[in-house]
Amino acid sequence: MAPRVIPVDPFDLVIFGGTGDLAQRKILPALYRRFCGGHFPEEVRIIGAARADISTEDYRQMVAEGVKATLNEHGPGAAGIPEFLRRVTYVSLDAREDRGWEPLAAQLAEVEPRPIRVFYFSVGPGLFGPLAERLHRHGLSDEDSRIVVEKPFGHDLQSAKALNATLAAHFTENQIYRIDHYLGKETVQNLMAIRFGNMLFEPLWNSQYVDHIQITVAETVGVAGREEYYDRAGAMRDMMQNHLMQLLCLIAMEPPAKFDPDAVRDEKVKVIRALDPVEPYHIVRGQYNAAAGGKGPDLTYRETVGNPRSSTESYIALKTHISNWRWAGTPFYLRTGKRLVARSSVINVLFKDAPHSIFGEEAGRHANHLKIRLQPNEGITLSVTIKEPGPGGMRLVDVPLDMSFATALGADGKNPPDAYERLITDMIRGNQTLFMRGDEVAAAWAWTDPIIAGWQARGDVPKPYDMGSTGPGDADLLMRRDGREWRGINP
Ligand code: NAD
Repeated sequence: MAPRVIPVDPFDLVIFGGTGDLAQRKILPALYRRFCGGHFPEEVRIIGAARADISTEDYRQMVAEGVKATLNEHGPGAAGIPEFLRRVTYVSLDAREDRGWEPLAAQLAEVEPRPIRVFYFSVGPGLFGPLAERLHRHGLSDEDSRIVVEKPFGHDLQSAKALNATLAAHFTENQIYRIDHYLGKETVQNLMAIRFGNMLFEPLWNSQYVDHIQITVAETVGVAGREEYYDRAGAMRDMMQNHLMQLLCLIAMEPPAKFDPDAVRDEKVKVIRALDPVEPYHIVRGQYNAAAGGKGPDLTYRETVGNPRSSTESYIALKTHISNWRWAGTPFYLRTGKRLVARSSVINVLFKDAPHSIFGEEAGRHANHLKIRLQPNEGITLSVTIKEPGPGGMRLVDVPLDMSFATALGADGKNPPDAYERLITDMIRGNQTLFMRGDEVAAAWAWTDPIIAGWQARGDVPKPYDMGSTGPGDADLLMRRDGREWRGINP
């Protein structure tokens, strides 16, 4: 059954950085799909604002090309593009100067009464302050306006706090939408549905029954196109501090009383604050090298970033603990890396063995295992122990109860909305549940900073790993030392 369409209220969306990569590849195509899906009322206006001195006609052409490049057989075709473009205009302006702000103000003032205004800062963080200040100075925002900011939100705790303070000078926390696009993914939201929509899992969801939890976000892509940024950031800042942290929060948090922005975010921030510092010997950093055999045509990490001495990690694995009543004693193993063997985001919950086997030694040891696949082939697999068929005693075997959402949900499961579609409608509706709060980001940096400072002080050099592998061998050792093994990257 197709989901019920509830259109959002009329809005004006100004995309600062509207000619940039993110706007063209993600934001505008997501707006187009929601427009075609009937989620937007007639009066919607989308205003691209950037430095380039181009006309609205030029901009519409650019947007049309950007949208066309993202169309596929599942979503809407190109037929709606002309209608969509009628809602799109362009203003050339500079965030650091007064040029262009009067024309923007004039365009926004054309519609009375003032609809919801969303200002999307799709620009580098250095422009957040100037934009917030000019919006205020030109009287373009009111208490109902929203601003949207992209990752990276800071480089460390100090810079994140400074960014929070910059935005807070002109906007209240309930007007600030900090994007972590992982939270917009259907399967990530499904973590909450699986945990809090079922009776089955929650009673077992604690250190008494869970042996350990693994979170893996593996990518096949390298860092090409983002070389300068990435070599300054590395996997810890680029992925662990935000995306993996968000997954960890959703998997480990206490049940919020309501699915409400502050109730959910209060619980998430408690998880982050309860994270233990990470011991140096529980961290493995890696950097991709030539493919095995050294014959691959692809560039190594250092060649890609053009820095032959770079000691930035393109892979990180670590073990941490959450010091609270629910999780004390259960290790969490997190890993993420680039140029690995497969693209795969997966959470593995490994339950403990049954306390006593009535079937004797020969039946072997068995434990349930819940695997939550976030991508690809979204779904869950629960391994269950049954009797191996046939005569000759009671031998046990683990079999999967396997569910792919695409199969279970039919057409709706095959074509989940892109993360940005969900996040954009939420920001227009004023729902901050899937956006990070300022204290959450700060807490994540407070945990991350000492880890980075530690390896910098030790002069740690990342371990090389082959492109197309599962990462450095030391990451396997991290597990093997505890008598465990990684699950999840499919060769
Ligand atoms: P980009 O370099 O492609 O585009 C930057 C945009 O900012 C351009 O439209 C440019 O005209 C505009 N701009 C620059 N200086 C300006 C000024 N002084 N006044 C007005 N406009 C100005 O960058 P991008 O890749 O689109 O990234 C934008 C933001 O989103 C960055 O903070 C980035 O870290 C973040 N982000 C990007 C991606 C991605 O996939 N591209 C993913 C996640 C986060």
